[in-house]
Amino acid sequence: MSEQNKPEILKMELEALSKNEEFARVAVAVFMARLNPTLEEVDDVKTAVSEAVTNTVIHGYQGKGGIIYLEVGVEGQELTVSVKDDGIGIPDIKKAMEPMYTTDPDGERSGMGFSFMEAFMDEVEVNSAPGKGTAVTMKKKIDG
Ligand code: ATP
Ligand code: MG
Repeated sequence: MSEQNKPEILKMELEALSKNEEFARVAVAVFMARLNPTLEEVDDVKTAVSEAVTNTVIHGYQGKGGIIYLEVGVEGQELTVSVKDDGIGIPDIKKAMEPMYTTDPDGERSGMGFSFMEAFMDEVEVNSAPGKGTAVTMKKKIDG
C-alpha cells in the first residue's frame, strides 16, 4: 500500500465547553484538507461537526462539562468523523433524530441538529444508551 492510500487517524479529547466547538470544527477542516476538498465540502463537514459537538456540550453533559472524544479518519477519499461523550445518553434515538424534535426546555433550540448532520454527510450513525453516553459517527466521501 502506498503511503498516500494508508488510512490515517487523528484522536483528540476536548473539554466540553462551547468555546471548544470552534476548535473542533477548525481541526477537522485542517485534517480533511489532505483530501483536497471543495470549499462546500469543508463547510458541510464543519456544520456537521459543529452540531454534534454542540450536542455533547448542551445535551450530553448538560452544560456541566465533561470530555468530548473527537476522532477523524480518512481512508481513500472517505472521511469519518466520530464525536463521543460520556453524558446522559439518548433514550429513543429514532425520535431524537426526527426533524424538529428537541428536549430543550426553553424553546431556544430548533431540533434540527441531526437533520443537518444527515443532510451534509453521507451517513450518520448514532449509538447511545441512557447513562452511558452517545457516539455519533459520520461519513462523507470527498470528491474534491
Ligand atoms: P438544535 O440542534 O437545532 O439546536 P437540538 O440540539 O435539540 O436543537 P438535535 O441536535 O437534532 O436538536 O438533537 C435532538 C435531541 O437529541 C436533543 O434535543 C437531545 O434530546 C438529544 N441529543 C442529541 N445529542 C445528544 C447527546 N450527545 N447526548 C444526549 N442527548 C442528545
Ligand atoms: Mg443540536
